[in-house]
Amino acid sequence: MTSVVIVGSGFTGFQCARRLARTLRRNDASVDVTIISPVDYMLYTPLLPEVAGGVVDARFVTIPLANGLDGVRAVRGRVESVDFDRHTLCYTDPEDRSREMSWDRLVLTPGSVTRLFDIPGLAEHGRGLKSTAEALYLRDHVLEQFELANIDDDPQRIRARRTIVIVGASYSGTELAAQLRALADSAAAQMGFDPAEVRVVLLDMAEQVMPEVGDKLGAAAMRVLADRGIEVRLGTTLNEVHADHVILSDDSRLDAHTVAWVTGVTGAPLIADLGLDTERGRLKVDTELQVPGHPDVFAAGDAAAVPDLTQPGKITPPTAQHATRQGKVLARNVAASLGYGSKKRYKHRDMGLVVDLGPRYAVANPLGIQLSGWPAKFVTRAYHLHAIPRSVNRWAVSLAYLTDAVFDRSVVSMGLSTQEDAKFATSEGIPMPKAN
Ligand SMILES: Cc1cc2nc3c(=O)[nH]c(=O)nc-3n(C[C@H](O)[C@H](O)[C@H](O)COP(=O)(O)OP(=O)(O)OC[C@H]3O[C@@H](n4cnc5c(N)ncnc54)[C@H](O)[C@@H]3O)c2cc1C
Repeated sequence: MTSVVIVGSGFTGFQCARRLARTLRRNDASVDVTIISPVDYMLYTPLLPEVAGGVVDARFVTIPLANGLDGVRAVRGRVESVDFDRHTLCYTDPEDRSREMSWDRLVLTPGSVTRLFDIPGLAEHGRGLKSTAEALYLRDHVLEQFELANIDDDPQRIRARRTIVIVGASYSGTELAAQLRALADSAAAQMGFDPAEVRVVLLDMAEQVMPEVGDKLGAAAMRVLADRGIEVRLGTTLNEVHADHVILSDDSRLDAHTVAWVTGVTGAPLIADLGLDTERGRLKVDTELQVPGHPDVFAAGDAAAVPDLTQPGKITPPTAQHATRQGKVLARNVAASLGYGSKKRYKHRDMGLVVDLGPRYAVANPLGIQLSGWPAKFVTRAYHLHAIPRSVNRWAVSLAYLTDAVFDRSVVSMGLSTQEDAKFATSEGIPMPKAN
């Protein structure tokens, strides 16, 4: 039987699998569709800051493959290599056994990982925000540090335990800063310390927060961050990260026990190992999402450099908005390559961004309309509830929002994700150079 193998169960792979299976079912086609991924769910990443902030439960942002993809076989495993001549791939299962799988059509959607820089101590002491393990770790670690500060008697260490450094003031870093600030305020009220003793410091090399939303909304966000007591230091990054302090690029020292690194992404490590052409760490594809020279191989999403037909010469940005739509076009074009329907070029004009800034505030620019405050908050939450691709999850997230509106946040550090679980290597699969 003809087989299609989709690598990765993120926004792109999930949409592609769902649409492709539907098209094949409609055409009574005997084609085997397999999705292979290290996890058994699709992760709705835009709500990870709210998971870290303790508003939304991690389970609510994971869409199970088991009952979300009718007619698709889900396989747990990380693809390690692809043989394009033999039409096979090698993957490692969760028990580290190496296995082989063959394919007639291959769809590469392994997404992206946090972009790391060669900063001493970053991989050891910094943590990202790309996985549930990382989001849960940040929440648990921040709360545990507050608990430890309450029984500590060293003033310098107490300050460090109550200082959170976030690097990266794009939308996800800024959302994280707002959520951790709100979590800290709830923790202070419930644990009985002065919230002013918690410092949340947001750093970025850029001269503006969230350049993606433009000057006006960026300025509105800056005002909210300042009102909430979040310190924003622009034109600044980290030079060194240690267990109890960081050295900033202006050579100053900041005592801190929590460092979140949210500075952007690069293509998944698999992409660099394929021996195919890349652009800025992403796999080159044409406008029909096919890999040049490999008519049976397709790719899209964060892992691929998809030409942006609305802005000639550019590639589409790594966003869920593009990834979801590219997944649909992938499904159509893979089906067409099997003789069902016709191919289509990928073209989508950006519809704007929604950015949740914690209690009662957001900024958003849907279809170019600039919104802030309550209207933006409403649009942001409504957008997420619409975009989550499963009704049970929508229901659960709605209840979480309702609970958040009525009750105090739960201040619990459940230890579900350890420091080891949340390391970039463990949680995102980023290979680390071996220590000498
Ligand atoms: C905190 C955060 C907030 C965000 N907020 C927004 C937002 O508000 N709006 C927006 O538009 N975008 C947002 N994004 C960006 C968005 O998440 C990405 O653009 C989107 O996830 C890309 O989808 P993808 O399918 O290409 O990759 P991913 O969603 O990253 O999925 C990749 C999949 O491939 C799997 N995989 C990786 N390597 C392998 C391998 N070797 N073998 C098999 N499987 C593999 C992964 O486990 C994963 O299942 C946010 C991202 C983050 C991190």
